[in-house]
Amino acid sequence: MRIAILSRNRKLYSTRRLIEAAEERGHEVHVLDPLHCYMNINAKEPSIHMRGKELPEFDAIIPRIGASITFYGTAVLRQFEMMGVYPVNESVAISRSRDKLRSLQLLSRKGIGLPVTGFASKPADIPDLIDMVGGSPLVIKLLEGTQGIGVVLAETRKAAESVIEAFMGLNAHFMVQEYIKESGGADIRCFVLGDKVVAAMKRQAKPGEFRSNLHRGGSATLVKLSSAERATAVKAAKTMGLNVAGVDILRSNHGPLVMEVNSSPGLEGIESATEKDVAGQIISFIEKNAKSHKTRTKGKG
Ligand code: ADP
Repeated sequence: MRIAILSRNRKLYSTRRLIEAAEERGHEVHVLDPLHCYMNINAKEPSIHMRGKELPEFDAIIPRIGASITFYGTAVLRQFEMMGVYPVNESVAISRSRDKLRSLQLLSRKGIGLPVTGFASKPADIPDLIDMVGGSPLVIKLLEGTQGIGVVLAETRKAAESVIEAFMGLNAHFMVQEYIKESGGADIRCFVLGDKVVAAMKRQAKPGEFRSNLHRGGSATLVKLSSAERATAVKAAKTMGLNVAGVDILRSNHGPLVMEVNSSPGLEGIESATEKDVAGQIISFIEKNAKSHKTRTKGKG
């Protein structure tokens, strides 16, 4: 097969591993920087060009679109979809998962466990908003944040009010969330592929920190999932319409709670914690599932 990887940098661990895994299986791989792709959108023969030339035909595309280029990256991916290229994750599903609030609303509709979350725009609503999520301590999250930046633990009601007022004053969108204390600064990253969790790791925050992101100094270890955790992760990925997803779960005293569903989950942490060939499994998934024009949405919506 001829496979495209939509990625800004071929040297990134995840991109390198996907190239390696695809080449090992005899596929031809092209890494395409989405910002270098430009499109001819027309009724008869939509096409994508790069540096003055039309791109060749591809059988499948693996999107690795960073949060900072979601808009342009998903537009390029949608164009590939229009041309019939099989995307391992669809553009619509990626856009959906990038909106943290919309994602939680979709998950809640399916009855998936979530930390109780509030959203408001008026300062007058702050006291009730804080009560809604069970009072302090509570977590305040900027909707635009990634890698733990913009996630604040407010230990007291006063601290929560000040941070919320500050964010409102800056016209920043944020949500307020019940703090899951019993998770003890740890979360579980479930790597979902199709209808299975193919690898999972526990990430533990460094001492004095509640955010377990590896970028914030968290450490990863192998973890055994309960069947409820597996089912929750797979259902969350399915709800978002993602074939490949990193589902982040908090272990609460009332079962698994989904924090986030990531559409471009990194491979480095999970492959080294589990010693599994996750990249290879992604390529096998593509081999089994890739068919021309096989998208659920055809880019609609
Ligand atoms: P980001 O998408 O920026 O990584 P997250 O929502 O995943 O933001 O939060 C970052 C980290 O903070 C999580 O990995 C988790 O360890 C911790 N965390 C987030 N929300 C909660 C919560 N409601 N209760 C307890 N810990 C939380």
